Parts: sequence; C-alpha cells; structure tokens
Amino acid sequence: NATRLIGKTVLITGASSGIGAATAVLFAKGGANVILLARRADALAKVAEQCVAAHKESGLQQGGKFASVQLDVSDKKQIADLWTKVPQELRDVDILVNNAGFVKGLEHVGDINEQEVEEMFATNVLGLISMTQLLVRDFKKKQSGHVINLGSIAGIEPYAGGSIYTATKHAVNAFSGSLLRELVNTPIRVTEIQPGMVETEFSIVRFRGNVDAAKKVYEGLEPLTGQDIAEEIVWAAARPPHVNIAQVLVFPVNQA
Ligand code: NDP
Repeated sequence: NATRLIGKTVLITGASSGIGAATAVLFAKGGANVILLARRADALAKVAEQCVAAHKESGLQQGGKFASVQLDVSDKKQIADLWTKVPQELRDVDILVNNAGFVKGLEHVGDINEQEVEEMFATNVLGLISMTQLLVRDFKKKQSGHVINLGSIAGIEPYAGGSIYTATKHAVNAFSGSLLRELVNTPIRVTEIQPGMVETEFSIVRFRGNVDAAKKVYEGLEPLTGQDIAEEIVWAAARPPHVNIAQVLVFPVNQA
C-alpha cells in the first residue's frame, strides 16, 4: 500500500541517474520527501525538477519537499558535513537508499589499476557503510527506519572480469545480512535489492564507454530499466511495518 510512503523522508545516494533517479521520482510520486545525493550537481537538479513534476501530477498535498546535495560518498568529510547542507525540515529521515556504485572496466585482475580498485571499494562498500552508520544512529534513537542497499547478482555470483566489482557487491551482501541480524530486535528494516542486467549509464561505464560492447551484453534479452528496480525499492519500502523484505533478486527474462 503506497499510502504508507506519504510524508516519509527518503535519502537516496547516486540519485543523479539510472536506478537512483528513477527511485527518487517514484518516491516523489508517492507523496514522499526526497534528499537527492550525487556528485553531479547539474544532473541532480534535473532529477529534482522531475520529482517536483511527479509530485504535482500525483495531486497529493503531503510530501513534495526535495533537496539536492552534491556529495561524494567516498569522502568521509563530506558525509560528516551532510546535515549542514540539508534543510532542517528534511533531517528526520525514514528511509535510506544506498544506491551509489560503479564499475569502470571489466579487465582481468592484473590489468586493473590500483587507484580504480580503491575507488570502487571506497564508493561501493565504504561509502555505503559510512552512510548506513550515519543514518542507523538516528534510526536507533527514534526506533524506526529502513535501510535499502543496492547489491547485485554480482554479490552472489562471481564472474571473470568482475573480480573487484563482484568483491564489492559480495561485501554489500555480507554487510546487509549482518545489519539485518543486528537490528532484528528493533523495528528498523534492512533490504538488499540484487538486480541483474539494468540498462543505465552503468551499462556503458563498465565498458569504458564502448557502446557496441555494452549493447552486445543485451543480445537475446530485454534488459531491465531503472524504473523496474525503482518499483521493487518502493514496493519494499511500502510494506506494512511488521514486514521486512530481506532480499529481492530480480533479473530480465532470458538472463542466465
Ligand atoms: P548509474 O551509473 O546510472 O548510476 C550510478 C549513480 O551513482 C550515479 O547517480 C552516480 O552519480 C552515483 N555515484 C557514483 N559514484 C559516486 C560517489 N562516489 N558518490 C556519490 N554518488 C556516486 O548506474 P545504475 O543506476 O545502474 O547503478 C545504481 C546501483 O545499482 C549501483 O550500485 C550499481 O552497482 C547497482 N547495480 C546496477 C546494475 C546494472 O546492470 N545497471 C545491476 C546490479 C546492480 P554521480 O556520477 O553524479 O556521482
């Protein structure tokens, strides 16, 4: 029942494109307030405009408050300063969507440069952990809240060329599972969404901009869209308070 989202405040990392952007707009449509975080301020501003339009279209009176904050989740100082950049009225967050993540290339392990290895862990794992720590402290104080992490099928199934990325997503899987168990005697919920192939900027970034290589992966199937995953996230968030969707593994028909 999506009415459970009305008036809730959602914080989304990586809200400037793909899954994060679609999720922000869908929450806006459902009457939630949204804090949008990412590094690209211009892209964030466009998504925030779409949120305003979606909320208006919904005709709902509640919700509809949006803030875009330029933030790099791999920068601990920026995370520590986050609340100084969020308007007071949006500081009481109900749902955290840890979505920021990337992989820049699918080379074999000896060919990936060390800096990229560190950047991937700093964003996909350490950034997600830092954001969770920040929010879970508040969730524990007020005895409510929901952490939704973007894992991946790569968090369960390793593959050649994915050594570092799959390691980061296995870490997200382990972290989400432990967090869920740690919070088991509280009303705080933890969900891990594990998508298969979703066509977003990610699809091209992971082949270092090679559009043909990116297209080839989708031969014989129709990839998911950011909207498909946004619907899973919003669905999990809108379950009754006693229902915790622990994991959602979702991939396109025909993905092996
Ligand atoms: P996109 O590339 O479209 O989106 C990634 C988002 O993460 C962007 O908004 C980007 O914004 C943000 N981001 C990246 N690095 C940082 C950082 N250091 N700090 C803050 N924000 C950052 O890809 P998707 O929407 O596909 O990916 C979203 C999540 O879904 C990722 O965690 C990805 O691993 C996961 N996923 C994707 C799949 C797919 O096939 N597409 C499959 C399974 C999981 P900006 O550059 O403005 O900072």
